[in-house]
Amino acid sequence: MEATEATALPDVKSLSMDELTARFNELELPSYRVTQVLEWLYRRRATGWAAMTNLPKTLRESLAGHFNFFVPALVACQGEWGGTQKFLWRLADGNLIECVLLPANPGIYGEGSDRHTLCVSTQVGCAYGCKFCASGLEGWKRNLTAGEIVEQILSIERWVASQLAPASPPAKPDRYIDNLVIMGMGEPLANFGALMKALSILNAPWGGGIGARKITISTSGLAPQIRQLAAEPAQFRLAVSLHGATDEVRDRIMPVNRKYPLRELEAACQEYVRLKGKMISLEYILIAGVNDSLSQAKPLAELARRLHAKINLIPYNRVDGLAWERPAESAQEAFLDSLLQNQALATLRREKGHDIDAACGQLRLKTERAARAGV
Ligand code: SF4
Repeated sequence: MEATEATALPDVKSLSMDELTARFNELELPSYRVTQVLEWLYRRRATGWAAMTNLPKTLRESLAGHFNFFVPALVACQGEWGGTQKFLWRLADGNLIECVLLPANPGIYGEGSDRHTLCVSTQVGCAYGCKFCASGLEGWKRNLTAGEIVEQILSIERWVASQLAPASPPAKPDRYIDNLVIMGMGEPLANFGALMKALSILNAPWGGGIGARKITISTSGLAPQIRQLAAEPAQFRLAVSLHGATDEVRDRIMPVNRKYPLRELEAACQEYVRLKGKMISLEYILIAGVNDSLSQAKPLAELARRLHAKINLIPYNRVDGLAWERPAESAQEAFLDSLLQNQALATLRREKGHDIDAACGQLRLKTERAARAGV
């Protein structure tokens, strides 16, 4: 059972229904109170115990003394309604995390179209230090709790409800987010326990009710945890952030490759595909002069064919303070053509604004640096 750093009390949004029931039993509360509280947490997206008006006031006060209930504060929102929007949230301990709301669009990870997709963070900062990424620039601070991962969905839905009907949000709003990509700040599989707990809550009919097939987990290539994920019963989608088709290129831009080189990563992916019977995707950020040469396209296509995987090419988004550049459109198209000629299944993300990969972590970085400089 998870307790947040702010208090020693268990975080109510880190608890499964069984765990909450057990706590309520200890408090000698009837089981229908669990149902009521879950309804308030995940359907009505309550911001505190006081909002749960069909619970007696004395009970609400008692629950506040037994559980931690935290809602992050919105620090900044970038982007236009209806387009890609990036949100910066402040946690109870003052740390900042990002999540990105993607508009309805043709499915990026094979999940079908017309979804409301949220890109979710799993850590504050990141220890993996990929050379092109803003999230890893200042290192890793801590893992998010399951409740902090779950709250990103609830907080965005509260915000959406406030935009749609500021005066009178519906008493029982429907789920707005129906698709999750776990690709925000942090290496998701390095926070395996909290992530699995959060996803079980978001997947449960009493919780988020988001289908496992509509949840894509990304990893920079943590081979042992890919095998661990393969052994999980839930049918989550897997996206491997590859960004290089040879050890030479991956070693240069992704330090994780020195620990789990391509042979080991491929073997873990093979096991995932074999146990799950699902297609995985290989994410490949195209960076000018680093990994966009056609000499990378052939081994990338061969790897994708061996894994029966789909390749998502993503033109690099600039990160302040880093020298990397996006290749010219002609170079992007030539790379795609080469993959297709080598019989790989591949797409190139041409839309603007889907800056959920390389640019992830930039808003937090800018905000923290400005705060330190007293701007
Ligand atoms: S790309 Fe992912 S794993 Fe690599 S440093 Fe950024 S957040 Fe961490």
